[in-house]
Amino acid sequence: MRQPAWMDPELETLRDSARRFYETELLPHEERWGRQQVVDREVWYKAGAAGLLCPGIREEYGGGGGNFTHEIVIFSEQGRMLCPGLGNSLHSGIVAHYIQNFATEEQKREWLPRMASGELVGGLAMTEPGTGSDLQSIRTTARREGDEYVINGAKTYITNGSTANLICLVVKTDPEQGARGISIVVVETDKVQGFRRGRTLAKVGLHSQDTAELFFDDMRVPCANLLGPQEGQGFRQLMKELGRERVITAAMSLACMERAIDETLQFTANRKVFGQSLMQMQNTRFKLAECETKAALAGAFIDQCVAKLLQGKLDNASASMAKWWVTDACGQVVDECVQLHGGAGYMLEYPIARLYQNVRIHRILAGTNEIMKELIARDLEQRVV
Ligand SMILES: Cc1cc2nc3c(=O)[nH]c(=O)nc-3n(C[C@H](O)[C@H](O)[C@H](O)COP(=O)(O)OP(=O)(O)OC[C@H]3O[C@@H](n4cnc5c(N)ncnc54)[C@H](O)[C@@H]3O)c2cc1C
Repeated sequence: MRQPAWMDPELETLRDSARRFYETELLPHEERWGRQQVVDREVWYKAGAAGLLCPGIREEYGGGGGNFTHEIVIFSEQGRMLCPGLGNSLHSGIVAHYIQNFATEEQKREWLPRMASGELVGGLAMTEPGTGSDLQSIRTTARREGDEYVINGAKTYITNGSTANLICLVVKTDPEQGARGISIVVVETDKVQGFRRGRTLAKVGLHSQDTAELFFDDMRVPCANLLGPQEGQGFRQLMKELGRERVITAAMSLACMERAIDETLQFTANRKVFGQSLMQMQNTRFKLAECETKAALAGAFIDQCVAKLLQGKLDNASASMAKWWVTDACGQVVDECVQLHGGAGYMLEYPIARLYQNVRIHRILAGTNEIMKELIARDLEQRVV
């Protein structure tokens, strides 16, 4: 397995303990959770007790006190192990950082330790039935009435949506405005009325991870739950945090690519065709060489993005490049590896078939790959004199 440039003995120990947790607490239940389309609620508490929630959040708020590399190690290993049910990369890698970066001191102390223990499960609700990529067109509104917001609207495709009880909800506080009318309001779902969960949606892959619809009918939330000091900051906050989400997606995609190559190496070495090992055939060797090259290039670029992120210097174009290129490459690699498995590649009892199901979404979420290219092109335009 490729070692990232930033890997050290402490991170290796963390990776091994995360792997043991996934082997004992997630994998044995994966099939059942896949059928019920959600993990058992108690596994969140177990993950909290094992130190796998909020690893990159400061210790004073109950987190692990680590940095982005600790997060990537934990999330990538989960992708590699094919046990996606626990939506931790979203909970710990994204939602917890919105709270740490933009909430008041009192809110951080109230919410983050409970996120680290698993008592609170985080969600981030942007996408609506009518709009996803075009975030400025969302229609969920938050109207101020006294010291409360009255919220109306609907969200869909929300990760952890049937479980989350702390949701960063993206709303329009000024429907007349585009990006400047967007704010994020934190909803403690256990404390509000007018909040309703819809269907948990059946998906192509990631069956054990819950993805749901949410509805808000005159839902009242204290104005104090606005994220940030004033309204209209939501879009800026999202832009600031989306880079981290994109690198996380790329890193998880790389982990899946590596697993696909490992599985296919073993399979082709043992499979006999026309009197020889499938691995001995030139087509197999060349295809696997191409796959490995893509994984190596992806790894090198992700390492560069991780280094920039740790220095607080990750630019949007680099994050977008990592996201689109690595997830596209992952799609190609996993597809080739399915082909090299023959019919077995289409059977869900083989890990490669489940990888094929799970990685398709990487090119769509965290900003579609088309949107990534648009963002890179906007950056390019600035070079025109
Ligand atoms: C499993 C899963 C989990 C998800 N989790 C969450 C979550 O936790 N929270 C959340 O808010 N959302 C979540 N989403 C939603 C996801 O972020 C959106 O599906 C995604 O952003 C795309 O939006 P859309 O589905 O509305 O597609 P659209 O925006 O309608 O896009 C349709 C197609 O048009 C293309 N397109 C759009 N605009 C342009 C353009 N300007 N130029 C060129 N092409 C364009 C897109 O690339 C795409 O190919 C999840 C989705 C899935 C499937």
